[in-house]
Amino acid sequence: MPGFPRLQERYDIVVVGGGHAGLQAALKAALLQHSVALLDRGPKYSRSYYAPHMVNIPGFPEGVSGHHLLDQQIAAVRKHEERVGYFTPATVSSVAREAEGFAVTFEWLKNTHVARGKVVLLAMGVVDRIPEVGGKIDPIFPWANQAIVDFCLVCDGWDLVGRSVAVLGHDAYAVRNALDILHFRPKSVELLTHGHSLLEGVPEPDRSSLAAALEERSIPVVTSEMVGFDGIREKAFGVRFADGSHRTYERGFSALGWYTMHDAIPRALGCRFDPDGYVVTDEDCRVIADATGEPIPGLYCVGDQRNGWNQIPEAWATAERAVVHAWGFYL
Ligand SMILES: Cc1cc2nc3c(=O)[nH]c(=O)nc-3n(C[C@H](O)[C@H](O)[C@H](O)COP(=O)(O)OP(=O)(O)OC[C@H]3O[C@@H](n4cnc5c(N)ncnc54)[C@H](O)[C@@H]3O)c2cc1C
Repeated sequence: MPGFPRLQERYDIVVVGGGHAGLQAALKAALLQHSVALLDRGPKYSRSYYAPHMVNIPGFPEGVSGHHLLDQQIAAVRKHEERVGYFTPATVSSVAREAEGFAVTFEWLKNTHVARGKVVLLAMGVVDRIPEVGGKIDPIFPWANQAIVDFCLVCDGWDLVGRSVAVLGHDAYAVRNALDILHFRPKSVELLTHGHSLLEGVPEPDRSSLAAALEERSIPVVTSEMVGFDGIREKAFGVRFADGSHRTYERGFSALGWYTMHDAIPRALGCRFDPDGYVVTDEDCRVIADATGEPIPGLYCVGDQRNGWNQIPEAWATAERAVVHAWGFYL
């Protein structure tokens, strides 16, 4: 069992968030002989903690769970304890610019602490919205944990080939996902709006064109509220509806968007966001200031929080890119 790290007065780099991107950034910084504070709420808040079977990760031809991959990355970082102070579970509440860099305030062991660094890397990721049944999010967990219900088209679209799929959602994002799933040639696709009217609140002309696209591609819409799930033993996604009906699918696909994009800290720092809510960076992952359009010196954003693809190889690549740039430019 590793001991508690000691908080130093200053670090070269403070990494906010220790998922795939933050862990890789801390490892790379340590290999480049820099001191790092890695501040993480805990792996169970990583988006991939609930990804049971990932097949695009080099070195794992049979696939790997997000849980296992995080464990491997944590083990690699822990080999560099002389350079990396790994504070977890630690929750960062604010990041402020100072004359010499940044002050990062966090809660750890029931106390408030400040880690100061010349460079800060934001790597807090994003969090999926989970379907609620009867006001609770846990009913769907067993199906999600067995990858019978998926959340990410670029991650798991391959697993929908030849299967019947229920897409959960009712807005423009859900309809676009239902249409995009057709690329993977499923047996069938249905949209379950869970008591909402289809495309409610979506402005014209998007509303009409999306409704027309659904009709043209013959995608049925089921509007009744979902009241429960079954079929886990048969590895099926069975849905019970409030109108007393029941339907069974081979896969579910949750298309409800994000519960949070962790925008409070980047917003307070004056970062620019793209129309989808991601932090805008230059190609070296330096955050762009909304007011000037120029990079904010010493501030980087990597992984899912940054505008790019929400994938682990991208989280690693952006982390490497940011740290190597910081090494050459600010450190
Ligand atoms: C069901 C599912 C399946 C997926 N399958 C694949 C796949 O097959 N292949 C693939 O490449 N990708 C897959 N992904 C995407 C992948 O999980 C993400 O791209 C990846 O986790 C992004 O890494 P990240 O470090 O940016 O964010 P995360 O891994 O989400 O990590 C963010 C970290 O920030 C921490 N944090 C957040 N806020 C704070 C705070 N205030 N203070 C301190 N710490 C904080 C959290 O504790 C967390 O550890 C999948 C995702 C899901 C949901």
